[in-house]
Amino acid sequence: MRLRFAPSPTGAIHIGSVRTILYNYLFARQRGGVLILRVEDTDQDRLVAGAIESIYDGLHWVGISWDEGPHEGGPHSPYVQSERLPLYQGHAQELIDKDAAYYCFCSKERLAVLRAEQEARHELTRYDRHCRFIPVEEAAERAKKEPHVIRLKVPDEGTLAIEDLVHGHIEWQASTIEDQVILKSDGFPTYHLAVVIDDHEMGITHIMRGEEWIASVPKHLLIYRAFGWEAPPMAHFPSVLGPDGKRLSKRHGSTAVSQFRDDGYLPEALINYLALLGWSPGTEEEVFSMDDLVRVWKIEQVQSAGGKWDKERLDYFNGVWIRKLSVDELVRRLEPFVPAEWDRAVLKKIAPHIQERMKTLKDARELIRFLFTDDIGFDKRLLIPKKSDRLTTLEALARARAVLGEIEPFVATNIEPALVGLATGLGWSKGDLNGVIRMAITGRKVGPPLYESLEVLGKEKSLKRIEKAQELLAGGPD
Ligand code: GLU
Repeated sequence: MRLRFAPSPTGAIHIGSVRTILYNYLFARQRGGVLILRVEDTDQDRLVAGAIESIYDGLHWVGISWDEGPHEGGPHSPYVQSERLPLYQGHAQELIDKDAAYYCFCSKERLAVLRAEQEARHELTRYDRHCRFIPVEEAAERAKKEPHVIRLKVPDEGTLAIEDLVHGHIEWQASTIEDQVILKSDGFPTYHLAVVIDDHEMGITHIMRGEEWIASVPKHLLIYRAFGWEAPPMAHFPSVLGPDGKRLSKRHGSTAVSQFRDDGYLPEALINYLALLGWSPGTEEEVFSMDDLVRVWKIEQVQSAGGKWDKERLDYFNGVWIRKLSVDELVRRLEPFVPAEWDRAVLKKIAPHIQERMKTLKDARELIRFLFTDDIGFDKRLLIPKKSDRLTTLEALARARAVLGEIEPFVATNIEPALVGLATGLGWSKGDLNGVIRMAITGRKVGPPLYESLEVLGKEKSLKRIEKAQELLAGGPD
């Protein structure tokens, strides 16, 4: 089995492309096959600087590797089409020699006029085969001097068909296809020519890609036919759709893989989520690691309808995978999301207590900030519980400070009964009292569990912050 993933470096690697490569990867891995990465950069006008690096980074981050490359140094340098131009040029020449292709000298202007006329007549816009009938020797002579492209001689009739592994039987009439360009005037192949030659030369046994390429298949089949090659089986995966049912794009927010990393998503979660966007295991099970997927994913279970992007579901999986991490691993993953000067020992102490409460790794910073800075400014009105008032709250703070001051050692298991007792003594709910103390020590309404927060912050700092809250509240009605 030889599979390939063939991104064009036309922008940051998109989430839909990751889903496509994931399926290729799973298919190859479960059959002991080879996965090839091939950079399809023949459309030189559309190249974006840094796009190739973004593809490498993205794949590395999600844990997908490929197996084979053309260069010394092995698998990590992929095939790059622009390095293979003589291969495509030689093959295009072969088709000319076989009379299966021809030189076309039509100017851009002529093609534009042709197109406009066809549009005005409400006809299919297509090349009118103007150069197809130039005598072969004459065309060969002109090709030495004049700019030209090479076009495929498309037959007037016949049916082209595939048995797609996802969509089943699909067929086209050859008569609907124009004499397509296979080699451009700059000597670069078109995508169609390059993809067919490469898939053939690389011995690709299964072509698996996004369904936006289905429309290109008849063009490819004609090229296979012209060479006398057999097209391998194909699978076209449904598009990843936005919440509005249209293809997921920048309109729906960022779709670049790097953005998910920067936003604090775990690669495990993204892979789990993406795997299920277009594939259903047929059971209630939904949490899958990459290894699980290699075992259970089946091409037969890939759906033909597109999966809709659902950020809440991705967040859900992110929470699931965050909770699966060991504390040490969680701390390691949090590393890029917290300032370098924050004490790692403290981070490690609090990490298990925020693990349940984070949707993304990015959430951690705000949740635990109070442990690393005294600058927790908040609006003093937030200290007073709904059914209470300033004076009662002041009293609660004073008594909390006294009670907490007595506790030795200052650990959550001692803090809890003391504060529960105090709430009862004050005639307050536990929630109201905890809310006041939480605001006093963290400056926020939500955070890690309160007793653990107090323990990790330490007695001295906790008491100081409560004292500060008292001063703040005593300072006047606003
Ligand atoms: N280069 C195409 C892309 O950017 C891939 C087409 C294919 O897989 O055949 O998506």
